[in-house]
Amino acid sequence: MTIFQSSTWVKLLGLLPGELNPNEAGWLALPQHHMPLMSNRRAQMIMNRVRLFASLFAVLTPLWMFVDLLALPNPLAWQLSLLRLGATGCFVFILYYRMEVTLFNAWRGMAMLFAIPTLFYVISYLLLARYHLSGVSAAVGTGYAFLPFVLLAGLAIFPLTLLESAAFAAPILIAHVIAGYFQFPVVDWPSFWGAFWLQGLIAGVAALAGVCQLAFMIALVQQAVRDPLTGAFSRRSGEEVLELQFILAGRSGSPFSVAFIDIDHFKAVNDQYGHQQGDVLLKQFAQTLTQGLRKGDVLVRWGGEEFLLLLPNIDCQQAMHALQRLRRNGFGLRPDRTPLTASIGVADMLEEGCNDWRRLVEIADQRMYVAKQQGRNRVIATAGNEPPVSQPVLA
Ligand code: GH3
Ligand code: MG
Ligand code: MG
Repeated sequence: MTIFQSSTWVKLLGLLPGELNPNEAGWLALPQHHMPLMSNRRAQMIMNRVRLFASLFAVLTPLWMFVDLLALPNPLAWQLSLLRLGATGCFVFILYYRMEVTLFNAWRGMAMLFAIPTLFYVISYLLLARYHLSGVSAAVGTGYAFLPFVLLAGLAIFPLTLLESAAFAAPILIAHVIAGYFQFPVVDWPSFWGAFWLQGLIAGVAALAGVCQLAFMIALVQQAVRDPLTGAFSRRSGEEVLELQFILAGRSGSPFSVAFIDIDHFKAVNDQYGHQQGDVLLKQFAQTLTQGLRKGDVLVRWGGEEFLLLLPNIDCQQAMHALQRLRRNGFGLRPDRTPLTASIGVADMLEEGCNDWRRLVEIADQRMYVAKQQGRNRVIATAGNEPPVSQPVLA
């Protein structure tokens, strides 16, 4: 049964998200394991779309006032017009309200965006229910009942996980039930539940569209952030991650270490065995390093045969242990079967009192040079004028 279930899942997931691996499928359901870079880009995208939606609603909501005033009886037309003006004010507020780009703020923006028309729907429904409209005014009145459908369909433009789609669709579906509850004695139950069922279906399709957008986005971000040769983060995205992690560590007061890694005598490999063999070695170096990393550690190809390792939540001493472990595993062999070695400089944000990540990288880089000067194949983790804490040569 378990085998059946797992193979069915793999097949289903294979159909669903295109370029994602089955082990990344969980990212489509819940947002908490997304990498920070991905969350940041997604937050930016959601916030842009919230503004797009808000600007559309800010224009269309007051325009429809003229139709109401022409087609509906008073005071209903005036009440609805006032309601529209209030809603327009709220949309304009969203449009100009600037927030820091975080996923939490993106959710807040979406919640505001969807809360306004949902409330508008409930209130307009209650106002309209007091009247028995006919002819053109009945047609205009019926238009109000379509608002939840539009909102649920609108969810499809956001790259959301299944949980997020469910959380945003639920209040709209509940608003429909509340509107029906207030009209309990007169409501036409078969058409009420028919509409509810249809809204559920639209919510399902919108959630699927959101998940497909998310899968596509994850695949694109993963391609864009990686260096094609080694699979490590590229310099540009590495700097972005570094900046994010630096800010997070600064806020929480937790340690944050970086290790600057430079392969020893790498040029000689190119010179003796050719550039292609050098490429193979670089790839193997990055893969071996990555296999030894903890979840949350990030390897960046800083340039050529230089790598930067980001080690959140660990101080210099713990970083030394981590690097010792990595060096014990080895970095692979050179074409002449001798071990490939590297010189490494480590710096911890708290210990160095750094408030700029560039300075932290600079310190680690300087220590890497000290390691080179001392004979290569070692780790240096303290300033040059102190007795150097360096690891013995292993290879
Ligand atoms: P050291 O121990 O002092 O670091 O010596 P090194 O030879 O490693 O350092 P050097 O800076 O003199 O040479 C780095 C070499 O890395 C030069 C360059 O040709 C090579 N390199 C940089 N990027 C790539 C790449 O993508 N592929 C290959 N095959 N070689 C590269
Ligand atoms: Mg170098
Ligand atoms: Mg080198």
